[in-house]
Amino acid sequence: MIDPMVVPSPVEYAADSSQYDFRWEETDCLLCGQAEAELVLEAADPLPGGQRGLRFAVVRCRQCGLVYTNPRPDAASMFRFYPQDYAPHAVRFRRPPRPKPLWFSRLFGRPCPERRGRLPCQPPGRLLDFGCGSGAFLQRMAACGWETVGLDIAPQVVHALQQRGFRALLGSLPHPQLAPRSFHVITMWQALEHVHQPRLILRRAWELLVPGGYLIVAVPNFASWPARWFQQDWFGLDLPRHLTHFTPETLTAMLTAEQFWVHSVRGVVHVDWLRSSAQRRIARCGPRWYLRLLQWKPAADVAAWLCYVAGKAECLLATAQRPPREAPAPIPAAFSAQRTAS
Ligand SMILES: [Zn+2]
Repeated sequence: MIDPMVVPSPVEYAADSSQYDFRWEETDCLLCGQAEAELVLEAADPLPGGQRGLRFAVVRCRQCGLVYTNPRPDAASMFRFYPQDYAPHAVRFRRPPRPKPLWFSRLFGRPCPERRGRLPCQPPGRLLDFGCGSGAFLQRMAACGWETVGLDIAPQVVHALQQRGFRALLGSLPHPQLAPRSFHVITMWQALEHVHQPRLILRRAWELLVPGGYLIVAVPNFASWPARWFQQDWFGLDLPRHLTHFTPETLTAMLTAEQFWVHSVRGVVHVDWLRSSAQRRIARCGPRWYLRLLQWKPAADVAAWLCYVAGKAECLLATAQRPPREAPAPIPAAFSAQRTAS
């Protein structure tokens, strides 16, 4: 009998998986393929109605430093961890906000100018949003003049988008309806950390891009100060839905390993994440004055901005490119994390 408060070892869950309504799997490092890893932390599913009492382990590869969830529910089981009301799947359509000036984004780290349509190349062109969720970004980009396609694994999301007249496809990459070299831009907003094989997804994205096409990837930053402060209560952890926990170094390494040129990896501010993390810590450990202070938006604004200025913001945004020439393709030898807008 497995103690539900203890993360099972591979042997234990293989011997007795009948008590769970999902299947566990163990994985080697998703970046370098090595099996040697050390435990970083354990945490429960933070969503109401999650698998009560069950905890998930986050480990760090001893070879390359990638942090990932292991063991984890297998791909066929993951739907059990996405409730019907999962917030990113809620379909919302609002008037697109006016883009803020670039100096504003550079100074405050938000809002992300790429999210508002300031992409490395200009329309007309074709844009694929991988893990398109609510469709708000598709709507903005269509308004900017892009020919958009959304891709998501949530049927209700895809159906709602199709009803609104968007081209939305159900599934992941590779997808039979998407042809190689058919997109000028591919975006992945808080999506890459959810997939079981991130390198495979990046490889397929590379193939879908035209030579010289751009990939925009946003993921939570496991090397951020809030991740260190809040540990298992950090909003960006979101176990077990987040399977890879990137840092600037490992995100760059994975993009480079899949032959992308990495132009920049920089921080983006998420004030609401900080407030949510404080709320979770209060719920688990009780109120403290500094946690209450962080729930006050002006205080959270200042704290998030300080993290951004120090290069330890909660979200990472990478701009990468499929090399414009096929061969030989120089790969950037060294990476330096940038926190200012490109
Ligand atoms: Zn590794």
